[in-house]
Amino acid sequence: MIGLISATSAGAAARDRLAAAWPERTRVYEGPVGDAVRAAFAECEQLVCFLATGAVVRLVAPLLGDKTSDPGVVCVDEGSRFAVSLVGGHGGGANELAREVGELLGAEPVVTTATDAVGLPGLDTLGFPVEGDVAAVSRALLDGEPVALEAELAWPLPALKVSAEGDHVIRLTDRLLQPASQEVVLRPPSLVVGVGASKGAPVEEVLELIESALRDAGLSRLCVAELATVDAKSEEPGIVGAARELNVPLVTYSAEELKAVEVPNPSDAPLAAVGTPSVAEAAALVTGGELLVPKRKSERADGLPAMATCAVVRRPARGRLAVVGLGPGARDLLTPRAKAELRGAAVLVGLDQYVDQIRDLLRPGTVILESGLGAEEERARTAVAEARKGQAVALIGSGDAGVYAMASPALAEASDDIEVVGVPGVTAALAAAAILGAPLGHDHVSISLSDLHTPWEVIERRVRAAAEADIVVTFYNPRSRGRDWQLPKALAILAEHREPTTPVGVVRNASRPDESSRLTTLGSLDPATVDMMTVVTVGNTATRDIAGRMVTPRGYRWQTAEEGSK
Ligand code: SAH
Repeated sequence: MIGLISATSAGAAARDRLAAAWPERTRVYEGPVGDAVRAAFAECEQLVCFLATGAVVRLVAPLLGDKTSDPGVVCVDEGSRFAVSLVGGHGGGANELAREVGELLGAEPVVTTATDAVGLPGLDTLGFPVEGDVAAVSRALLDGEPVALEAELAWPLPALKVSAEGDHVIRLTDRLLQPASQEVVLRPPSLVVGVGASKGAPVEEVLELIESALRDAGLSRLCVAELATVDAKSEEPGIVGAARELNVPLVTYSAEELKAVEVPNPSDAPLAAVGTPSVAEAAALVTGGELLVPKRKSERADGLPAMATCAVVRRPARGRLAVVGLGPGARDLLTPRAKAELRGAAVLVGLDQYVDQIRDLLRPGTVILESGLGAEEERARTAVAEARKGQAVALIGSGDAGVYAMASPALAEASDDIEVVGVPGVTAALAAAAILGAPLGHDHVSISLSDLHTPWEVIERRVRAAAEADIVVTFYNPRSRGRDWQLPKALAILAEHREPTTPVGVVRNASRPDESSRLTTLGSLDPATVDMMTVVTVGNTATRDIAGRMVTPRGYRWQTAEEGSK
């Protein structure tokens, strides 16, 4: 929850905008600001104070405890010009919150944490628990001193600017060890603990079993990603309680699924009770991996029979492939999610001209694999191969990466040994439509006129179908130097079903510095004025030019504003 505190009416107005935008995330604290800040500090994970920084410093100073548990505090000034991340930049998420608040209120986010300022990710913001001397290693990274990355597991990480050797070390491991001085240990979620328990097994017994199994195997409990068991035990209090104590999710599988898993130590007891010869080992092994601790039973001080079993598996590390649409060109049409994926990538794969579009956003040290036009298949293969090595990879495309772009060739190469995430982007048809007016107000299609990947007969059949169905059409790849007859041919097919006066919008370089657009008609469009940087949108029989804007009505009974008001 984010606590909101204000003192003046201008502050209250900004506060209300935030509260209205994030009704689920925020709570307004009224009353004297001192009391409000103290209450919010105790009750919320984050605070936004619409007060001077000086006032907030005085109010929160006596409340500050530990940077890992204190709430993050953001201050917004009276004029909503700045959103200052005051305390809890990383641990309390105040840096990120300052950016979000800034975006919402049109205020400049002020972030002074060193790692953020120079584009390095904070070691405590990588999404993994961290142990060791975070401050010393961060300083070394900032000062450009050599920092070695010793990754025992191929877990995907953002670019970190590390060297082969160094006095400072970032270690990525699930082994139990005490960090040396000048060392941080990153704890990836690499372990799955399978658990079985008989009815009524106490939480302490399950927990003690898991902890001793990890300890004896020399594994860190910080790396436990989840507990796993059979469906029938999804509400067994001992197992549910242990998951809560360890602060990890509990996942469950059907007895059918578990029966199919090959395990070293099957037995008859669970087969009779829940219908699978193994619960702990099978549940830990369902999604693959290496069995580090075979089935082991709890020990009871009172000598009664054990009520719990567990087994520990190290999951195979999975690389991550983010397929990211960059939008049509303008930076403010690049989504925040796309930006976050670019900053989380250690390897970036893309066409050179698109890489140029976002190069400044990349973390220092990001490996850039760029190639020229035409190397699509190769780019797709490269991106997938890098992800298979365990890297965090971003594969970029302009507009939406799934529209006549890299997503399908990449996913055709990929198998389930990598994680794939897609980030949608504003595709050219939409960027152009917004410039033209509202041409896509009713049903519409996109058709690429490039016959490099598609035989012309197929393209022509689709154009004809759109023409007959009276659907608005946006042509991508409309015309290039070597391909000049396709656009006139496609327009001629549409003209068999639409009047010469049908509006046609031509948009070149939408949202780029040399953007241009014009509205013409099917009868008078000169195809020679169209090139590969352009999309051409042809209206349907109801589309009109209204005050220079291209508008397709939602229904087919067209009314002017005057008729409507009669
Ligand atoms: N993935 C891209 C499309 C790639 S196909 C997207 O979703 O937008 C390339 C074609 O897209 C170009 O030939 C052109 O027709 C169109 N295009 C891409 N960006 C454009 C822009 N900013 N303005 C106009 N057309 C654009």
